Amino acid sequence: MKGLKITRRQLIKNAAATGILLATDFSSAKKKPSGISLPRLPYPKGALVPFISKRTVSFHYGKHHRGYVDKLNRALPGTEFEKMPLEKIIKASATKPQHQKIFNNAAQVYNHTLYFKSMKPRGGGSPKGKLAERLNGDLGGVTGFRQAFLDAALGQFGSGWAWLVEDQGKLKVTRTANADTPLAHGQTPLLVIDVWEHAYYLDYQNRRKDYVLAFLDHLLNWDFVAEGLFD
Ligand code: MN
Repeated sequence: MKGLKITRRQLIKNAAATGILLATDFSSAKKKPSGISLPRLPYPKGALVPFISKRTVSFHYGKHHRGYVDKLNRALPGTEFEKMPLEKIIKASATKPQHQKIFNNAAQVYNHTLYFKSMKPRGGGSPKGKLAERLNGDLGGVTGFRQAFLDAALGQFGSGWAWLVEDQGKLKVTRTANADTPLAHGQTPLLVIDVWEHAYYLDYQNRRKDYVLAFLDHLLNWDFVAEGLFD
């Protein structure tokens, strides 16, 4: 039934574009939509214990992250975004309020993928080499970064995200609300913490600060930041 719906919508779209129905429309409409897939978790679900429980990661990755992927894939067929890679979907839908559902789900897929990569077991500490120099130059070193990141994460009212980004060649700490992402604002996201309650409530209840400090001190993956900045 689902395939039939896509086929019909595709045919209507093609017919509207060309003014005529061609036999080839059937073969192209039969093709499986490319779709966006759920990336693998970079570590086992229990790898962040005791700072983030296996239960939290199971729900967060298995229900929330997967849920955004599924909702996006249900919304894409028949739209102009259908064949685009994820980052392009986000940039192309960001300025179109009529496609807010696609933007929200695409941005949430992207943000969660970055979030899980922003952590690793036995993370935290201070970066070295070129990244340390950049932090010194742009943010007052790792101490300045920590304070700015903590302020951004605690200052985000309600649901959202705190970020380290590169903007016009400079490192910056910023925050976004709900599904919004720096990718939609011309910035390069390098690191993110999820401050939606579902990210920490099972482990920390309302103590967002304890969760953010655990992220900074024990989970933060500086290697991932360096890859995003220099590779
Ligand atoms: Mn989340």
